[in-house]
Amino acid sequence: MLELRVVSPDPAPQRYKPSRFNHFHTLPSGERLAYNSLSNALAVLDQGGIARYQYLAGGNPPDENNPIDQGLIEGFFVVPESFDEISYLKVLHLKRRFDNTEWSLTIAPTIACNFACDYCFQRHHHGKMAPAVQQKLVDLFNAKASAGLKRFSVTWYGGEPTLAWDVIQNLSEAFLKISDEKGVDYQATIVTNGYLIDEKKVADMVRWRIRLAQITLDGDEASHDQRRILHSGKGTFSQILHNLQLFRDTPIFVHIRVNVDNRNKEEVYALLDRMTQEGLAKVEN
Ligand code: SF4
Repeated sequence: MLELRVVSPDPAPQRYKPSRFNHFHTLPSGERLAYNSLSNALAVLDQGGIARYQYLAGGNPPDENNPIDQGLIEGFFVVPESFDEISYLKVLHLKRRFDNTEWSLTIAPTIACNFACDYCFQRHHHGKMAPAVQQKLVDLFNAKASAGLKRFSVTWYGGEPTLAWDVIQNLSEAFLKISDEKGVDYQATIVTNGYLIDEKKVADMVRWRIRLAQITLDGDEASHDQRRILHSGKGTFSQILHNLQLFRDTPIFVHIRVNVDNRNKEEVYALLDRMTQEGLAKVEN
């Protein structure tokens, strides 16, 4: 008996190209810091990692058992040859824009500030968000929550938001009440210079579901105190460092932001050493 079998050829191996969103920086160690601004992935590549990146980016097929290859693919450092990154980005953007189930707001309760940083325009402003504007925000959130909103996230921003703590309190309490009544998952972030943080404010933040605080230190004490100063000209580094300890044993995650430029680029490593000395490096609550 004659048996006829159709045998499919092995599919062609997937080939990759370098992402157009890659950024590389050579570290003092000779390793390369790789950042992909589409996926937000960050990697340190040693000689072996650089060789694998160049191999894949040259159109050679990946080794599915090689964790470096898989990491480079997952981080979008290399993408399939046929993958259109710009179209992908447009789809992500439009999906987010027309999604009625999630809403993110950045709210400046004031643009006044207690600092006079030499690179900032916001220090000259005064005043707070008016009660009528606060009420409009609450009404808008209430309407969205009634129309099926599932997640709401707020970033408290400024100026310096701790100068308008009463506004943050009013809005947070209203947002929490509506969220709990309508089943919306609510959480917040705060961007603050950290100077006026105290134990009460940290306790308030926990109650108001502020999960992340971003606080700036612009290098070590000397370089920070040259640029991030009070209106009196006094430096702020030591007070901020003291206040950072208040977040220990709380559910609030703290990001330290460092604005790096030619004036302080050498002091960044000294800041990292200082944070380690103060027990503030890699703190897990
Ligand atoms: S703390 Fe922020 S808002 Fe205030 S002066 Fe400095 S950069 Fe500007």
